[in-house]
Amino acid sequence: MKFSPIEFRSQAEAALRDDTLQAALKRARSGFVDKRAKAVAALPEFELLRAEASAIRADALNRLPTLLEEFEAGVIAAGGQVHWAIDAAEARKIVLDIARCHESCRIAKGKSMVAEEIGLNPALEDAGINVVETDLGEYIIQLAQEPPSHIVAPAIHKTREQVAALFARHHERAELLTELTGIPELVDEARRVLRETFLSADVGITGANFLVADSGSTVLVTNEGNGDLCSTLPKTHIVLAGIEKVVPSMTEVSTLLRVLARSATGQPLTTYTSVFTGPRRAGEDFGPEEFHVVLVDNGRAAMLGSEFRDMLRCIRCGACMNHCPVYGAIGGHAYGWVYPGPMGQVLTPWLLGPERAPDLAHACTMNGHCAQVCPVGIPLPDLIRAMRVREHESHVNHVAERWVFRQWAWWAKRPRLYGWALRKKARWLRRLARPGGALRKLPVWSGWFRSRDLPTPQGRTLRDLMREKLRGSQ
Ligand code: SF4
Repeated sequence: MKFSPIEFRSQAEAALRDDTLQAALKRARSGFVDKRAKAVAALPEFELLRAEASAIRADALNRLPTLLEEFEAGVIAAGGQVHWAIDAAEARKIVLDIARCHESCRIAKGKSMVAEEIGLNPALEDAGINVVETDLGEYIIQLAQEPPSHIVAPAIHKTREQVAALFARHHERAELLTELTGIPELVDEARRVLRETFLSADVGITGANFLVADSGSTVLVTNEGNGDLCSTLPKTHIVLAGIEKVVPSMTEVSTLLRVLARSATGQPLTTYTSVFTGPRRAGEDFGPEEFHVVLVDNGRAAMLGSEFRDMLRCIRCGACMNHCPVYGAIGGHAYGWVYPGPMGQVLTPWLLGPERAPDLAHACTMNGHCAQVCPVGIPLPDLIRAMRVREHESHVNHVAERWVFRQWAWWAKRPRLYGWALRKKARWLRRLARPGGALRKLPVWSGWFRSRDLPTPQGRTLRDLMREKLRGSQ
């Protein structure tokens, strides 16, 4: 699948001008942040759990090949099949082959970020398969033909009125525009339509929050129960998961679930936690006749051997984006692909290549809040900074920017000369600024000043102040 470079700057500017989006973001931001804060305050041992969760994920990554083999053996022992996909194209082909070999015409699908990542829905639709998203948020954005704007709440950018209009148009019932006045009515309308999908689907596709090595089980959390219906009613259940999702046993899963739900939605646990182990057994009334797990690499094994390895600890809770001022100002679509916010600033350039996402790593104020709230302790600002270096080394950034940094490096390696030049520059900037005001433009720096100003230097540099302080303390 080909991707053109993400136009982050223009998309971010458009998002800032979109009043409806701004109102939706404001509502969502306070909701997520407040709920998480309350949930964390109610659990005194949260920081201990967070450290434990971080250690669990790090240990699982250290033993990834062994745990994946154990998981595969467990799935097979339970009567299921495991498929390994090296990249997005292979993952799509595997799912298509399973779906076609069942002459499927309808698929009920649960929310899966990996499915978004590999572009599964367009591939299924191109093959003439009717795939219906059954998570309410995903269903809404499928009707709107938009990508998700948040990994936990994909339709967070939509207002009630916009959803009612979508349902009225796609369900071909104009009266819904006036009938659907509240969230319960909207949910009932979606439930009415989706129920038919669950009952008529030949194949169900879900993601997995965790893969359990010692039992070959997959664990899925939802708040709507749609994952259970996708997995038990159709004859075939396909689970799509990244290879990094494996953990040793349910003991580790129980710790991860406690930090996941609190970090994502502020709940002690999500409403449904489902564990799937193989297909229906003899004598059982419910469950699929076939159970397939598609394990997707798509750049993860390479990431494991890189300086971005810690990113694979991610349990997709969304807390980093909920607390990010940049995400809070522009929403998810501006990031141009599946993963928005701080986690996307690392994953997107890694998975698509830095040349496809040249500006993402720079959309960060380095305030560090994302790392403070991450339930598995991913050092996101460090990884974003490393991504900037990677971009610089791959010559993705503008030639002028690289020249400036080369110049800066030359001066910075000569501290006395650097200090002298800095003092000269501070005096020059002071002369340029209006009295009592701030600098709003400089030659060549128009891009930087487009969204910032610079407080007028007051004469002495930080180095001068530090020197004075050190002298004073002697
Ligand atoms: S990086 Fe951390 S905070 Fe962000 S989604 Fe992943 S686990 Fe959650």
